[in-house]
Amino acid sequence: MVDSFLLTVLPEIIRLIVLAVFVLWKFYRFVRSNYRYMAMINKKSSKFIYRKNPNSEIPECAICLSDFVESDKGRKLECEHMFHRHCVEKWLQEYKGTCPLCRSSIVSEEILAEYRRVKNEQNDNIFEKELALLLLSVMQGGSCNGF
Ligand SMILES: [Zn+2]
Ligand SMILES: [Zn+2]
Repeated sequence: MVDSFLLTVLPEIIRLIVLAVFVLWKFYRFVRSNYRYMAMINKKSSKFIYRKNPNSEIPECAICLSDFVESDKGRKLECEHMFHRHCVEKWLQEYKGTCPLCRSSIVSEEILAEYRRVKNEQNDNIFEKELALLLLSVMQGGSCNGF
């Protein structure tokens, strides 16, 4: 009785643990790569909030081609070029890890490649689906046994 219970349940439990480890490992890699990527951007640029200054020209964001307005969130890259924070972060993530104006390197190829790979993996959530199905079948199996 106990043996047959173990034989049916144990493989499911092992599968569950393996899947959970895969999901956690993926999540860990996602967080780590995100962290490395943002740390790199933070190191190579500084955040600022734009305040109007009558003595200087209004800067323009070369990505969305609009002027900065009061209290816009911006990022100034190492090369002194300024962009909106969301514009330049999107640019660095989806295009190249370089300044859109002068092409000086901001995020290294290696970190950018890892970031993109992990992000793609995040999109196909095969392990999560498998885990959800397994949990569902275990729960249904459990209630059937009760009757
Ligand atoms: Zn912009
Ligand atoms: Zn630049």
